[in-house]
Amino acid sequence: MVCRSDRAKIPAFSASGDYDAVVIGGGFFGCKIALYLKEHLDRVLIVEREADLLQRASYTNQARVHNGYHYPRSLLTALRSSVNFPRFVEEYRDCIDNTFDKYYAIARVFSKVNASQFQIFCQRIGIPIEPAKNEISSLFNPALIEAVFKTQEYAFDAVKLKQKIREELEREKIEIWLNTCVDKVQETTSGKIKVLIRETESERCLRTRYLFNCTYSQISQILKASDLPTIPLKYEFAEMALVDVPPELKSIGITVMCGPFFSLMPFPPRGLHTLSHVRYTPHYYWQESENLTIKAHEAYSQIRKQTNFPFSIRDTIRYLPIAAECEYIDSLWGVKTVLPQSEVDDSRPILFKQNPKLPNLYCVLGGKIDNIYDIPRELNGLHLIEGV
Ligand SMILES: Cc1cc2nc3c(=O)[nH]c(=O)nc-3n(C[C@H](O)[C@H](O)[C@H](O)COP(=O)(O)OP(=O)(O)OC[C@H]3O[C@@H](n4cnc5c(N)ncnc54)[C@H](O)[C@@H]3O)c2cc1C
Repeated sequence: MVCRSDRAKIPAFSASGDYDAVVIGGGFFGCKIALYLKEHLDRVLIVEREADLLQRASYTNQARVHNGYHYPRSLLTALRSSVNFPRFVEEYRDCIDNTFDKYYAIARVFSKVNASQFQIFCQRIGIPIEPAKNEISSLFNPALIEAVFKTQEYAFDAVKLKQKIREELEREKIEIWLNTCVDKVQETTSGKIKVLIRETESERCLRTRYLFNCTYSQISQILKASDLPTIPLKYEFAEMALVDVPPELKSIGITVMCGPFFSLMPFPPRGLHTLSHVRYTPHYYWQESENLTIKAHEAYSQIRKQTNFPFSIRDTIRYLPIAAECEYIDSLWGVKTVLPQSEVDDSRPILFKQNPKLPNLYCVLGGKIDNIYDIPRELNGLHLIEGV
């Protein structure tokens, strides 16, 4: 791996500035896509604006390795999650926290499923479910919770994941430029794509045959700056509170289904739990159109980050009285980006879209981390050609 932020060790620029493929964005998706591309292509480069890999959504998320339970309203997403779960757990064994028990509780009112529907749904897709022992279900308020189930769901450690992926990139000799921001892209007469890069005090460019825009909340911004058709996405400015839980909750994770409720999940890199709440985690949201592109990163840095923890914990305590003993530490903030359709049917498909004006430019958005296993099929369909 050649890491460009380590300026003392690397050549100033690639010999020709030409690549087979450039991946914009060094999150989990960008890094994995670079690794898949390297199976077909020689010169692959990752360009990341932050000082390290996996700093944005790939770190500031709830760390849930989905196994399907979350999606009783989207059978296909649930099924795919349950298929990907053992794969992800096996591939990233060293990055997985499976030392806690995971419980799904079903709310009596405002839930889109009842306990028996949830149980039947889990049995249909073949994921483990059993009634929780009394010592666990007695933690909940029986007036608001119909049933509590023990399930099988784990958390990933994003810091360990970064370390593992770094090693893979190094092994495959994939070039990485950190602290490097792509401004815009242009078609060239040779059919290659010119990538314009902004550095602290200068601008440079390079050329590539294939370009992958894996910038999550920034996908449209690069398209817009390049005068290319954008993709209408929905954005949520999201907060997850990091809390120190009382001893009774240390080795468990909880999700209340299925509506305006909460999740309390271990967050391995900090040894704390994240508290997310359907009502209070999103502070603002906006939807993009051809005429409206809000610069998500800029909005993120300008918005006042005032925690909603007092609201989310107050509601959580109604369902789980012992949560009153949670101590707020700080919060993770990020811009969650989803396809508008996902809001309607709760699905989490990947977006893998060829740009209509620049056919060798592909935009990729993963709804959740295990969607990564949908990528090789898309890449294989491209019949990539080497030769810069
Ligand atoms: C609040 C929240 C909770 C979530 N919870 C879960 C969960 O529990 N389980 C789950 O599986 N998924 C969850 N997700 C979804 C998951 O986090 C994402 O699907 C995944 O991390 C996306 O990875 P990525 O690589 O596409 O994005 P990112 O990790 O955001 O990577 C994009 C990268 O592009 C870089 N970039 C942007 N613009 C430029 C530019 N112009 N030039 C160079 N680099 C640029 C950014 O700095 C960033 O590093 C959650 C997401 C959020 C936001």
